[in-house]
Amino acid sequence: MTTEKQLIEVSGIAVEIIRKKIKNLHLGVYPPYGKVRVSAPLFLDDDAIRLAIISRLAWIRKQQKTFLNQDRQSEREMITGETHYFWGRRFRLDVIEADLPPRVRIRGTATLEMRVRPGTNREKREQILSAWYRRELKEQIPPLIAKWEEMIGVSVLEWGVKRMKTRWGSCNARAGRIWLNLELVKRHPLCLEYIIVHEMVHLLQRRHNERFCELMDGFMPGWRQHKEGLKEIPLTDEYWEE
Ligand SMILES: [Zn+2]
Repeated sequence: MTTEKQLIEVSGIAVEIIRKKIKNLHLGVYPPYGKVRVSAPLFLDDDAIRLAIISRLAWIRKQQKTFLNQDRQSEREMITGETHYFWGRRFRLDVIEADLPPRVRIRGTATLEMRVRPGTNREKREQILSAWYRRELKEQIPPLIAKWEEMIGVSVLEWGVKRMKTRWGSCNARAGRIWLNLELVKRHPLCLEYIIVHEMVHLLQRRHNERFCELMDGFMPGWRQHKEGLKEIPLTDEYWEE
């Protein structure tokens, strides 16, 4: 009995393929973020699977758009009941209006509590949450950099967090400076660690070549899995780079 899992890309869409002892191909698009998964019979070759996906691209895109719109819509509102992510976990937002300084905190296991002054608008609520995300992310970074400076044998002279539209991180090797995307705070902590290691390895090797992959394999053997983890909560239709 063999069950193989494989990830391929078809017209810019990541598709997970699972080969099983089944007779027919099943294709599904799954909430909340429109992940595409195909269960395929063992005898079907890659080209046949690709064709089956291509013939249903319009349907796949439509399903994904529905999921993404639902999510974006709710993210814009900043009201109680919405889903927000923190370190790879889903939390339910609970907005409490009180005449006290704004505060964000995790309550229990699944609630993201945000206290705001009465009448605080959506933009301001977003800023309050963003500032909290930034603080939480920044707190995790220095110990990780220190750990990997020792492991890799390089020095990060400067680091920072910013919003980036298509990159998880960037590295200026000459300046010894790395930037990390604020969105990493919503992913699993290992995704942050992977991006930090990735950017720090760029201090040894600027390009994504064979040598780079060898270095990554040596320092962090599970890096490919962490990289996949980054795709679990897509924000845009674009592919992100490290
Ligand atoms: Zn890179």
